[in-house]
Amino acid sequence: MSTVYFVDFNGRKDDSTMHKMERLCNASGLQQVIAPDDLTAVKLHFGELGNTRMLRPQFAKVMVRLIKEAGGQPFLTDCNTLFYRERFEGVRHLQTAAFNGFDQLGIGAPVIIADGLKGLDYRSVKAGPTLPEARIGAAIYEADALVVLTHFKGHDDVGFGGIIKNLGTGAIARSGKQIIHSHLKANIDKTLCNFCGQCLGACSQNAIYQDNTGYNILPDRCNQCGHCLVLCPQRAIPVQWERDDTEMQKKLVESCQAVLKNKTDKAFFVSFLVDITAYCDCRSWSPLPIINDIGILAGTDPLSIEQASYDLVSQEIVQNRAGKDLRDFTGVDGSFMLQYAEETGLGSREYQLVRV
Ligand code: SF4
Ligand code: SF4
Repeated sequence: MSTVYFVDFNGRKDDSTMHKMERLCNASGLQQVIAPDDLTAVKLHFGELGNTRMLRPQFAKVMVRLIKEAGGQPFLTDCNTLFYRERFEGVRHLQTAAFNGFDQLGIGAPVIIADGLKGLDYRSVKAGPTLPEARIGAAIYEADALVVLTHFKGHDDVGFGGIIKNLGTGAIARSGKQIIHSHLKANIDKTLCNFCGQCLGACSQNAIYQDNTGYNILPDRCNQCGHCLVLCPQRAIPVQWERDDTEMQKKLVESCQAVLKNKTDKAFFVSFLVDITAYCDCRSWSPLPIINDIGILAGTDPLSIEQASYDLVSQEIVQNRAGKDLRDFTGVDGSFMLQYAEETGLGSREYQLVRV
């Protein structure tokens, strides 16, 4: 059984939520994870432009100070998105992060897009039976330590967005995200293609050829690696979204484990149960939260924190939303991810909640 540390979100005159977060992190072992001079990746989701429910920058600022006090060198980080909004490449991503309050001036640490300018900077790690390869953003892979700040909310692909989602796709480069999202083969929209030929050089399978109709992809040869899609300057190779929910949930879990492979005893997790909406912070808009703010959880076992977050949110929904379940808001049952994560060794689903 793991210990999950908890503070509620109810600030008081002599005990603000910021103080509570500091107390929480000190009690739950942050200092043991960070060694002097550790380059420490603080993985979070900066929020899409237009979203107002992402993790509050003040929490990142507190964490940066605590890491520095432990001797570490923190930087904030996330990977580029697969979809084309305001975070699919490094420049717009940094601008969006700054607009949402995450920049060096305000936070006190630099922001590094983990998979680089165009999402091509990643390290391949063997994952699991459903996802053979995880393409981890290089800055996250190479960091000495990892602190994962997660805003828990609903998610209409996998049921909920917690630690597993934050790392399982959030720490993964664009082409790796495509592999996680869909098993469909790539195709070319000839109405958008300008015959630049970049995809031809990107394909290790020789699946792309040119004839008098333009560029084409041989489905039998395509192994869905996603490289051509990421490189195409015309967005003529569309992102494939069609998916199997269970398969994607498995891939997320395996991917999350791959991200943590080289971070044994060097990863720390914080889960924020606040501004809990039915949808992800990837949306360029935010609906009202579905329940009241609950609190913050922390520790070193990602699965026990994820399970405790899920349980606390579910209890709040049952008590204050007339017996509704999280899946009634998202349309997807996310509990399978927790089961699969336990079966495959991410951590323990049994926990004791310790209020600090
Ligand atoms: S990279 Fe895109 S635009 Fe260039 S040839 Fe391939 S499909 Fe066409
Ligand atoms: S997805 Fe990969 S294998 Fe398929 S055509 Fe594109 S580069 Fe080639």
